[in-house]
Amino acid sequence: MSSKKGLNEIIEAIDAQMKKEGISRRDALKMAGVGSAALMMGSSTASAATVAQASEAKGKIVIVGGGLSGIATSAKLRNSLSNPDITVIEPNPESVSYQPGNTLVASGIWKKSDVMYQTKDFIPKGVNWIQDKVVEFDPENNQVKTAGGQTVSYDYLVVAAGLVLDFGGIKGLEEVGDVYSLDKNDAARAQKILGQNGLCSIYFVDGAVDTWTQMQKLVADAKSGKKVKAIFPEPHTPFKCGGAQKKITNLTNARLVEAGARANADLSFYTNGGKLFGVGIYHDAISNQMKARNVAVNYNHKFVAVDPANRVATFEKHWMEKVLDPELGIEEDVRKFELVNVEYDFCHVIPPQKAPKEIAQSPIGSDKGWVPVTKETLQHVKYPNVFALGDVAAVPLGKTGGSARKQYNVLCQNLIATMEGKPMTAKYDGYTVCPLITNIGTVMMAEFKWNPEGPGAVPAPSFPLDPAQERWLMWLLKAYMLKPMTVYGMLSGRA
Ligand SMILES: Cc1cc2nc3c(=O)[nH]c(=O)nc-3n(C[C@H](O)[C@H](O)[C@H](O)COP(=O)(O)OP(=O)(O)OC[C@H]3O[C@@H](n4cnc5c(N)ncnc54)[C@H](O)[C@@H]3O)c2cc1C
Repeated sequence: MSSKKGLNEIIEAIDAQMKKEGISRRDALKMAGVGSAALMMGSSTASAATVAQASEAKGKIVIVGGGLSGIATSAKLRNSLSNPDITVIEPNPESVSYQPGNTLVASGIWKKSDVMYQTKDFIPKGVNWIQDKVVEFDPENNQVKTAGGQTVSYDYLVVAAGLVLDFGGIKGLEEVGDVYSLDKNDAARAQKILGQNGLCSIYFVDGAVDTWTQMQKLVADAKSGKKVKAIFPEPHTPFKCGGAQKKITNLTNARLVEAGARANADLSFYTNGGKLFGVGIYHDAISNQMKARNVAVNYNHKFVAVDPANRVATFEKHWMEKVLDPELGIEEDVRKFELVNVEYDFCHVIPPQKAPKEIAQSPIGSDKGWVPVTKETLQHVKYPNVFALGDVAAVPLGKTGGSARKQYNVLCQNLIATMEGKPMTAKYDGYTVCPLITNIGTVMMAEFKWNPEGPGAVPAPSFPLDPAQERWLMWLLKAYMLKPMTVYGMLSGRA
């Protein structure tokens, strides 16, 4: 957002659209969890605690990871404690990049500079920043060690280290290996293979820039009359922003349509699972959107390998089959699979994802790597002075900025209660949000939370509107409001 005038125009457009939908801006902001429109107007980072509300609790808090969750937590704690003693350990000077904007960078709507920020501008006043990486966790002695050789002790530890992109888990991308979110060296290594020959990934910002170059080539080829094939495989592991591959599929479709070249392009979506979304109404809506856009959906296809030079992706297609056990004489369900090679002109890769190994293999990690916490309180299952949130926490449905926005408030309340020797009362309910871009100009705002009645998830719309509809209003919120809400609201601990 370049100027206040420009922002006012957007807000007026949103107002007008909301009026059409029958809701006021004030109501909408309240529903979206934002207290004041002033947040949108560029008021900057963390303000001081309102002293009347501040807790007198004492203790040294160390936060590992200064991305979205870590900075928001540090700001909220700084705002809530009268004697804060908070240290953030984060190696990356650009750790608070607005990752949800990568989809817009990859489709030529935003530039890289629209999503990049300097960590130093977001570390709240009074919070200590150690620019280093934690390589060892010693929760028995309340200490962590950094790559630079520092031992840092703590009374309370918050783990907010995000996740690692496991490109090496796909055969053919072993040289790319592990990529930490926003690590420049990792990105440079990834760019030696990704970002050319039609193979790309928006999961790191330079990759998003390259995706736009590759997408433009695809569109130009289709426009010149060449028949092209674009494929969009989802990974088989949990991954951040479950809607990202659908968004890139829809944005590629939009760019092809805009160029009058859609008839020459074959678009295919691949997922390892049997559904497009865990919540029924969103699965149905996305399935209809894919049909309307003539995108072929392939279920039960695990993306296992890619040959970048020859532009071939390999999937393990799997299914269950009844097989007679000759000894017992009964039929058993047996998993069968076959390898399927697919040639492509454009392949957008979402890699498998995992916890950073220094966490996964430490005493605070788990078999699956993620930090095991009680999902409602975010307190470590074994160490009561350790908490975790964001992508690294073993919390179902938890890997979005939208869930981190709810989690950091819960975590701060529970951490302060623990510091005060009181019971923890705040509870995370699994809320998360996926602003699913369906076209340039429409979004389906898929909000959901854990099913309070049992397993799975249920819709949790903030707006009194059918959440499964694609809307211009939700596009306006996604493209113009969510970033300032995050950057000026959440990162200052206020939204
Ligand atoms: C393409 C894409 C699209 C997305 N779209 C959306 C969306 O539309 N809506 C939405 O809500 N969310 C979206 N997300 C997800 C969202 O960006 C993440 O869920 C969010 O950034 C998670 O915050 P985090 O703090 O847990 O992790 P991060 O923001 O990734 O921060 C983790 C930090 O920890 C640091 N770190 C790692 N290891 C260590 C260590 N050992 N020591 C010290 N520091 C360490 C890293 O350097 C990093 O800065 C998207 C993400 C991507 C990639």
